[in-house]
Amino acid sequence: MARLTFCGAARTVTGSAHLLEWGDRSILMDCGLYQGRRRDAFERNRQFCFDPKKVGAVVLSHAHIDHCGNLPSLVRRGFEGPIYATAATADLARVMLMDSAEIQESDVAYVNRQRKRDGKRPFEPLYTVKDARRAIEMFEPVDYQREYELFPELHASWHDAGHMLGSASLAVRIQEPSTAPIRLVFSGDIGRRDTPILRDPEPPSGADYLLMESTYGDRLHPPRQDITSILKHAIHEAFSRNAVLLVPAFSVGRTQEVIYRLNELAEAEHLPELPVFVDSPMANEALNVFKSHPECFDDETIRRISTEEDRDPLGFTHLHLIRTVEQSRRLNDFDGPCVIIAASGMCESGRILHHLKHHVSNPATIVMFTGFQAPETLGRRLLDGVTPVNILGRSLEVRAEIDRVDGMSGHADRDELLEWFESVRAGGAPKGIALVHGEPEAQESLAAELRQRGIADVRIPDLGETWELTPNG
Ligand SMILES: [Zn+2]
Ligand SMILES: [Zn+2]
Repeated sequence: MARLTFCGAARTVTGSAHLLEWGDRSILMDCGLYQGRRRDAFERNRQFCFDPKKVGAVVLSHAHIDHCGNLPSLVRRGFEGPIYATAATADLARVMLMDSAEIQESDVAYVNRQRKRDGKRPFEPLYTVKDARRAIEMFEPVDYQREYELFPELHASWHDAGHMLGSASLAVRIQEPSTAPIRLVFSGDIGRRDTPILRDPEPPSGADYLLMESTYGDRLHPPRQDITSILKHAIHEAFSRNAVLLVPAFSVGRTQEVIYRLNELAEAEHLPELPVFVDSPMANEALNVFKSHPECFDDETIRRISTEEDRDPLGFTHLHLIRTVEQSRRLNDFDGPCVIIAASGMCESGRILHHLKHHVSNPATIVMFTGFQAPETLGRRLLDGVTPVNILGRSLEVRAEIDRVDGMSGHADRDELLEWFESVRAGGAPKGIALVHGEPEAQESLAAELRQRGIADVRIPDLGETWELTPNG
């Protein structure tokens, strides 16, 4: 007998955290940040639906902030480790958590200056850099496809999820004395086949209970565009206009995929002679993590680094990594065509803002979006053709060409989720499925299809709800 409590990502996407209890022990699967309206996030990320001191271990699916970003808070509130994750996830989580802790500290400092003026007591940060460092020290790296005994009654293994470097689905087996085992599979975030660099998802085989993401449970991705040739075309256009190509991109994942594709072009000698600047310290750190984990690469990438003269799939002659703020500012004076890749992907913060401010009113500039733009973000306004826009306190006419390249999504669509499910089921059908990590409409739609396919118990749990898991027979 075991119990699973949904402590986050219930009827929403972010804040992944699920508590698995058996006997008098428990582990937490993921410990993500809830991202939403400020006030909600403030409350939710501070309150756990369990006592962090009593949790025996954390098992992590991957390093996205909505899956690992609340670990420092867990530590701050008494959790003592260990945190099991693949080696690449552990390294990427270090980059993500340090960045997140700095943001937590500076956000609260800003709010507290205002509160002090108003004579109010200061807020405590959700967590500090020190908390993040402590969490980072608790990581225990694991390999893919090996079963680990985390407790005498609990074994776990990590299986490629194809979603980001190091990402995994988790297979957990609970074996209590004199009962049959319970097999629980947690999908984590499921990626797509043929994502550059990464191996395709390799779903665990068979489950008694399945905990599954449902982000795109009601949507199909458009047919994949030839992303590399769209990038190539934009670069040649910028080159012939003697202009700047701005690529807003998330620091971890998307930026490295763009670099990988540009590297392909460079090797095929399809890249004109122009510099490519990566202007994001976090992206550059993540780039180093990517390079140090070839065990996560797919066959194509392995073949390239073992057969070509140039052994670096993420570096080429004209690639320049920008580190300091001073170097970043100096790019404004750069004369001649160039590519600038910078965060944030939705243009809400980060160095992309000062590049946009500098170039967006120039009709020769090209801005190429590489990912989803949420409503109310500057990225979305630019895509929607809004002009003028407000950037860093200035109202600016948008004269640049605004483009987008689709198809770099890190998430499986409805058909791909169902394919993943069928592959798990081929090794033994689950008695029940719980859908998490999705908006309610997407979840209802996927649940209906799974019931159609013969799974009677498909649930869409509420936050804090508990699921009783029973052994077979
Ligand atoms: Zn993710
Ligand atoms: Zn996620």
